[in-house]
Amino acid sequence: MSKTLFQKICDREIPGTIVYEDDQVVAFRDINPAAPTHVLIVPRKPIARIGEAAPEDQAVLGHLLLKAAEVARQLGLHGGYRLVFNNGPDAGEAVPHLHCHILGGRRLAWPPG
Ligand code: 5GP
Repeated sequence: MSKTLFQKICDREIPGTIVYEDDQVVAFRDINPAAPTHVLIVPRKPIARIGEAAPEDQAVLGHLLLKAAEVARQLGLHGGYRLVFNNGPDAGEAVPHLHCHILGGRRLAWPPG
């Protein structure tokens, strides 16, 4: 199976500004930021989307959330931030490799559009 776009970033086959990585997850800056700080954190395993995660993915998904909070702290988002998973076309999902958006650096409106 061919690699996803985000696997290629994780494997440094295409450029990306990586801000954190370990053996399970990689965090890199979004190419088209929607906020002053906009980072994507992804599992190295190419799970397509949260709706297709399996019970065996529980540990990596828990790890991803804990690391998302750590990355947000490291990036200085002390005033708050938002974590977003877009799942499927109605949510605007564009890249079929599970990713958590870390958004911050400005006051974020609620509800989202
Ligand atoms: P989605 O809409 O699927 O939840 O979000 C996909 C995100 O990936 C978008 O915010 C988009 O800007 C970002 N993105 C798409 N292609 C690339 C790329 O090649 N590099 C990086 N760093 N981000 C990308």
